[in-house]
Amino acid sequence: MFRKLRTHFIANLLKHPFQQEDELSLCLISYASLIFCTLIHIFFLICYLVQDIQFFVFLNCGSLLVYMAVFLLLRGKKYKLGGFLISIEVITYASIGAYMCGISSYTVGYFLLIIVLLTLFPYGTAKIRRIMILIIFGLIALLGLRAAHTSPLIGFSESFNHFMTMVNIYIMLIGTILEISINTFVQFILSGVKEGRLVKLASQIYTDPLTGLYNRRYTDIYFNTLKNQDLHICVAILDIDDFKRINDTYGHPCGDEVLVFLSNFLQSNLRKTDRIFRWGGEEFLIIMENVSLYNAQTVMDKLRSKLAETEIKTKQNGTLGLTVTVGVAPFDITNPEAGIEASDKNLYIGKRSGKNQVVI
Ligand code: GH3
Ligand code: MG
Ligand code: MG
Repeated sequence: MFRKLRTHFIANLLKHPFQQEDELSLCLISYASLIFCTLIHIFFLICYLVQDIQFFVFLNCGSLLVYMAVFLLLRGKKYKLGGFLISIEVITYASIGAYMCGISSYTVGYFLLIIVLLTLFPYGTAKIRRIMILIIFGLIALLGLRAAHTSPLIGFSESFNHFMTMVNIYIMLIGTILEISINTFVQFILSGVKEGRLVKLASQIYTDPLTGLYNRRYTDIYFNTLKNQDLHICVAILDIDDFKRINDTYGHPCGDEVLVFLSNFLQSNLRKTDRIFRWGGEEFLIIMENVSLYNAQTVMDKLRSKLAETEIKTKQNGTLGLTVTVGVAPFDITNPEAGIEASDKNLYIGKRSGKNQVVI
């Protein structure tokens, strides 16, 4: 179940900007605290009603009203404000409880929950959280001093006091474990988000955003994978003929559309093992594994003539025709530059001798 939840959160967070990470942590802990505290106050309310201790009945009703306000804040995604209100409620409740009944029933233990909350979760700036923790320590000292010198204003029966002591200790323990578990879970999700971001970033570095093809940066990595393999490889450089004219006549967006069309055309008309790179503006580099130079020329020429016969439907400019010139050469993986240079020379020859042809 945790894996599924993690995958769900990671997929959602990857769609959003970075600040969402803190928000996730605040959202989870705020809702968990809201549910936890509301249940506790309902439980307390029932206990004090049974014991007929009116002061605490009112106090718990007040706390429940505060949690209704917190619920509204959280629904409006105001997690920081909601969390702050939860902290203030717990501090106030614990202070009043300890003030009225002394510190023997461990009401002050709730301060621990808030200290852990402020330490683990990014409610407010670090400075505000430090100040709040200092205030809590001050309150603990004052309440301790007071309890040492005066007797409690409201006395519980011995058995009820014993019961509340046990309840308070358990709340403290369960609350702390809950906070630490949520924090661990959030860190677990965030590690996945970071991993996902790195993968996404790497794919952005190596691909061309317009066509989705590999870009020049990926060639070195790809060539490394070809090393130590005994393959007969050919390289082709394919360049659109008179592309500038398409841009000039129909506009740059139409030129982009043609580039996307051509990249799809190349991908669907070549083998899966043929690697296609967007080499430059309207130039594509193709590495073909396991082909002779003759076969490479045949494949490229079929591709060229099929493209020349294809009508390209554009969004706003009707149908267009397109031709390409291709330079092909053998490719030696120990000297990739030489192969690319040779195919580039052949491309140049094809351009000079009338375009729309394959030169080896
Ligand atoms: P040739 O047949 O000699 O190759 O002529 P050409 O017009 O295709 O080549 P030229 O080098 O003169 O012009 C290439 C044009 O490609 C110029 C540039 O504006 C355009 N271009 C480069 N990248 C992009 C792009 O990403 N989108 C669009 N729309 N045009 C681009
Ligand atoms: Mg061109
Ligand atoms: Mg060019």
